[in-house]
Amino acid sequence: MARIFSKHFPDTELMPVLFVGHGSPMNAIEENEFVEGWREVAKSLPKPNAILCVSAHWETRGTSVSVTEKPRTIHDFGGFPQELFEVQYPAMGSPELAEEAVRIIKRTEIRPDEKWGLDHGCWSVLIRMFPEADIPVVQLSLDYSRPAQFHYELAKELLPLRKQGVLIICSGNLVHNLRMVDWNRMNEPGYGFDWAIEANEKMKKFILSNDHQSLINFGQQGKAFNLAIPTPEHFLPLLYTLALKGENEKTEFFNDMPVMGSLTMTSLKISPGK
Ligand code: ZN
Repeated sequence: MARIFSKHFPDTELMPVLFVGHGSPMNAIEENEFVEGWREVAKSLPKPNAILCVSAHWETRGTSVSVTEKPRTIHDFGGFPQELFEVQYPAMGSPELAEEAVRIIKRTEIRPDEKWGLDHGCWSVLIRMFPEADIPVVQLSLDYSRPAQFHYELAKELLPLRKQGVLIICSGNLVHNLRMVDWNRMNEPGYGFDWAIEANEKMKKFILSNDHQSLINFGQQGKAFNLAIPTPEHFLPLLYTLALKGENEKTEFFNDMPVMGSLTMTSLKISPGK
């Protein structure tokens, strides 16, 4: 059977995988240390052939993949300055990559979606990492009806993409409790409640010891975890990143810091080598 996709994306070395804590959409237009961290990590990567983004902000029933050639920039938030609503991220889509995702994922049927574009979990990060917007981007949705284990198993099937130069960026926040945010501390990076720091540190320990099962069972990890993950959508992208980690790969943390009390920006890069 002819593979249209392989004509577009030749085989490459294993591409790193990222989990990015995206935090406030203002990071798309503000200068701060997190934005600097995103730029730094982007510089450390081989140039991707395409990007597959798994964002906390695209939840669907069933799993969808965006197939549009020109994805629109979705301003899926309220109460921010007009300047932020005017931001456009004009990257092209990649129907070829979407088609390949549909082909390689066996765990569930992936639905091609022509309506979604790029949500802020995706573009607010990419605009800082790849400001030229010259790399095609596809989004994969999170099926809200499925348990954590399903997401982890599905993510494993994305591995072949790493060998075709596709950068998989999973965008959420390890600790994300919007109801408990201290808005008065918006400009004080590093400010975190005790439980937020406790949960963040425990998550990092599980990540470093490859104890993915304890993270999949996040609901059984006690009070700090329950406060850190009141709803799963910002945490689940982490499981996609971890599922793609090979045995001998290294994990590097960046932007490892709380903000506004109840969020952490902690991000990680998984790449070949010790
Ligand atoms: Zn978010």
